[in-house]
Amino acid sequence: MAVKRPGFSAAVIALGLVAAVSVQGASPVDDVRLRSAPDEPENWLTYGGSWLEQRYSTLAQINAGTVARLAPAWSFDLDTDRGQESTPLVVDGTMYVTSAWSKVYALDAATGTLRWTFDPKVPGAAGPKPCCDVVNRGVAFFEGRVFVGTIDGRLIALDAATGRKVWSVQTVDPTKMLSITGAPRVARGKVYIGNGGGEFGGRGYVSAYDARSGKLVWRFYTVPGDPAKPDGAASDDALARIAQPTWFGPFTAYRGGGQVWNAIVYDPDFNQLYIGTGNGFPHNQRFRSAGRGDNLFIASIVALNADTGHYLWHFQETPGDSWDYDSVQDMILADLKMGGRVRKVLLHAPKNGYFYVVERESGKLVSVAPYVPGINWAKSMDRASGRPEVDPAAHYADAPFTVHPSEGGAHGWQPFAFSPKTGLVYFPASENSMYLVGTPKYEYVEGLDTPGIIHGALPPQAAANPSGKPAKGGGKPGGAFGKNYLLAWDPVAQKMAWRADVSGGGVLVTAGDLVFQGRNRSGTLGELAAFRAGTGEEIWKYPTPNAILQAPMTYAVRGEQYIAAASGAGGASILAGGEPAHARQVGRIVAFKLGGIAKLPPDPELAPRPAAPAYHPAAAAIAEGKEHYARLCGRCHGLNMFASNIVPDLRRSAALEDKQAWQAIVLGGALESKGMMSWARYLPPDGAEAIRAYVIDEARKLAAVDAGGGSQ
Ligand code: CA
Repeated sequence: MAVKRPGFSAAVIALGLVAAVSVQGASPVDDVRLRSAPDEPENWLTYGGSWLEQRYSTLAQINAGTVARLAPAWSFDLDTDRGQESTPLVVDGTMYVTSAWSKVYALDAATGTLRWTFDPKVPGAAGPKPCCDVVNRGVAFFEGRVFVGTIDGRLIALDAATGRKVWSVQTVDPTKMLSITGAPRVARGKVYIGNGGGEFGGRGYVSAYDARSGKLVWRFYTVPGDPAKPDGAASDDALARIAQPTWFGPFTAYRGGGQVWNAIVYDPDFNQLYIGTGNGFPHNQRFRSAGRGDNLFIASIVALNADTGHYLWHFQETPGDSWDYDSVQDMILADLKMGGRVRKVLLHAPKNGYFYVVERESGKLVSVAPYVPGINWAKSMDRASGRPEVDPAAHYADAPFTVHPSEGGAHGWQPFAFSPKTGLVYFPASENSMYLVGTPKYEYVEGLDTPGIIHGALPPQAAANPSGKPAKGGGKPGGAFGKNYLLAWDPVAQKMAWRADVSGGGVLVTAGDLVFQGRNRSGTLGELAAFRAGTGEEIWKYPTPNAILQAPMTYAVRGEQYIAAASGAGGASILAGGEPAHARQVGRIVAFKLGGIAKLPPDPELAPRPAAPAYHPAAAAIAEGKEHYARLCGRCHGLNMFASNIVPDLRRSAALEDKQAWQAIVLGGALESKGMMSWARYLPPDGAEAIRAYVIDEARKLAAVDAGGGSQ
């Protein structure tokens, strides 16, 4: 079952002989080095650890016998308090890591000492562009250059030695709600990058740029545009021939989806590039494609020729998606022994709740099985083709539908990991449901998320139900945050090996037979934990000031193995309430080693008490403000006022008591540099004051249950 890896044995690493090969002035990171990345485990050369994206390391100095001595080696404070989702790279002793707002840091990997930093100076007005915080998942490295995508859609090449900008290209229309949070990938002299924006309208695409010059080599759009106006792109033929016939209703400039905002995987065995595509837009298929059709290539894996961008095959996981079921989750490339032969396969666990094993060369399904119970958007699954029988009621056309999994998915962007030693895949899985109510009519508003469903219609506040009919589906309405666990999955048998009932982020697995996962501890505070890869027994944990969302990674310097992670709550969890809420704090990179003696900064204080002005707003103003808040504010500050205080919890805002200050922020853009743009063009004249009335009312409610101070 295991891929045979040439190169260093665990014993060599454990004996500390890594230093002999981790020399300064090593050869440039080119295709040869990238292809054999698993053979130099002292480095972490790509987002997923290697082109295979297995997030598996042969380093074994830290193992079940030694992990008790694992302790902080160093930590590095970032200069932003927003979410941190970066996987650090380590190249020959230097760590390259990004922070929120797409900043890049080069650190000494042994000490955390800053070597250089690069700030792309993303305009604050771009802050609301990503659906879920101004996060960045990391850089790519190639031939002495570091590549980063920015929130405002630029792809920038930096000199790895100095951090100096070498070139910069704008990859998206900057007037649109498009953003880059994902890590670029590099192969064959090209940098591959997509973008996000699937909640705001428009078409997804992936682009390939020449790594040396920054020149666009090819672009592939994932959904058809105006049939009368081909793009002149690599995707033209496949869209006309294969995708267009699966769309219905009139073409509009806003309809589409299929954004390539995370997974882009290069397969050297076949010179293929696999991209994962996002949900359809609007989410409600009724307003996207007359309520029918597969709508290719949304919610799919698409294989492209890495050199030309031409279509090779596709595998759609959620035909006609109406549930925000992105298929952008990471993909693992593996050689699995199945039925007496070794098969080159791609492993995928997208939001929709099914685990797929797909043959890489052809895109043919090998096997599929649900990895969580309770899936109800599909009535059944054809195990031979991978085509689901979708429940027509799940499209919430006539009545609400409580869908399982929720829009958060049974597995989000958080990376999974595969150990060739155990043959298991490890990832955070979630059982959760969501109450979906379609809007009676559709109105597209440029710049706002207008999915064709009613925002924040989560029980018990689900009064909004224009049909008046009871919800179908029977999913347990637990909102977007339900039962979570760390799952070990056997991809050959397509069944669970074990599960640990913990809620955490992305995952790393090592030859030390340990699975590492970060998580949150008491709201926005964090913890790093280690589990036995064979059984799931948690055998080590260490508190960190900040929650950890992204997978930890590992590397070695001078014979010492490190486990490192970017820490800082945020991302989609800006919508999660903190219990209790803490003061906002900067994100940090934390690195651990055996016998480390560094001290991590202390936990932050509790959040400021809610503001409770003496002014009593009128009921009508509160009601109006609630509507504006749901439409404009909730996406970042918390739906239904369920706030984590990462993006400020407005009930605790000092500006709440001051009408002039409030207006200066909401209408005047006074805090634009921090990502709070002016919302004047979306509000009637008294709209900002109505929002203030609603928030004051909510602050008063919070203060009433918060007599002890700080807790929520
Ligand atoms: Ca989405």
